Amino acid sequence: MRIGMTTTVPVEVIYAAGHIPVDLNNIFVEHPDPVSLVRSAEFEGFPRNSCSWLKGMYTLALNNGCDALLTVTEGDCSNTKAMAEALTQAGLPIIPFAYPHDRKYESLEREINKLIRALGTNRSDVDEAKRRLDKIRRKIRLLDERAEEYPSYINHYYQVCSSDFCSDPDRYEERVDEVLANPGREAETNLRIGYIGVPPIFKDFYSYMDSLGVLVCFNEVQRQFSMPFDTEDITEQYLRFTYPYDVFGRIEDIKEQSKARRLDGIIHYTQSFCYRQIQDMVLRANIDIPVLTVEGDIPTEVDNRTKIRLESFAEMLEFRG
Ligand code: SF4
Repeated sequence: MRIGMTTTVPVEVIYAAGHIPVDLNNIFVEHPDPVSLVRSAEFEGFPRNSCSWLKGMYTLALNNGCDALLTVTEGDCSNTKAMAEALTQAGLPIIPFAYPHDRKYESLEREINKLIRALGTNRSDVDEAKRRLDKIRRKIRLLDERAEEYPSYINHYYQVCSSDFCSDPDRYEERVDEVLANPGREAETNLRIGYIGVPPIFKDFYSYMDSLGVLVCFNEVQRQFSMPFDTEDITEQYLRFTYPYDVFGRIEDIKEQSKARRLDGIIHYTQSFCYRQIQDMVLRANIDIPVLTVEGDIPTEVDNRTKIRLESFAEMLEFRG
């Protein structure tokens, strides 16, 4: 079965069960005409003031993008839950999974075991899948450590795709190996920037940053998708994953990485109509280097207004030295 995903979930369980994970976010953003997917969901009845990611994923799921949808019922947005209800109505099987709010080992262990049973696999096959994917995760970490040697987009792309390993871990690993063997950053770099928030819906965000002489050398959420830590078991791995839990765990990670990577500033990307926009206040209050908040709505190129703001931010950071 092709199992659709709307965010990062314990993908090891899907592979262990012999299914193919498909991260609908990645299919959506790489679609030749992603705006048409958004418009199609609106035509079906999605409110205009709901997030474009969701509308794109809904259209893909509805049009045979997957045979079942693994839905995160806790730790993701409530819009996803409503989308899953609409897809249930349309006849798509839904497999629920939750990241428990208390972030306790026993609670998450229970959820993972439920998922293992629902997909008809067992712990030892999951452990084997984890060992296989851990080997690839270590290579993505290496790519992240060498961020300076590549255009900004590369690190973002391989981290964001690690949610499902492009549905083919062997091919994905080959591609990572090729990239590791062929570094090459053409643009000159003056500034080191961090990117926080959900991945950008803008197609050319990273190339635009490169054109400003800015290296984006930290991608908060995308890096978390790649699980950049060594863990003994799968429950511990998904407990350390900050994204589905509260914003304070994310802040700790952002502060630690900002220091380690000597960041000059941070861009906080927010998605129109996403509840996470509210977290901007908390993030800004806790981050002690300059932060620029930008907002994206539909999947297009970076608009001119945002370009001017990004350019001014880069100039301001340069001026500060
Ligand atoms: S961007 Fe926000 S609203 Fe949209 S799917 Fe992600 S969490 Fe939900």
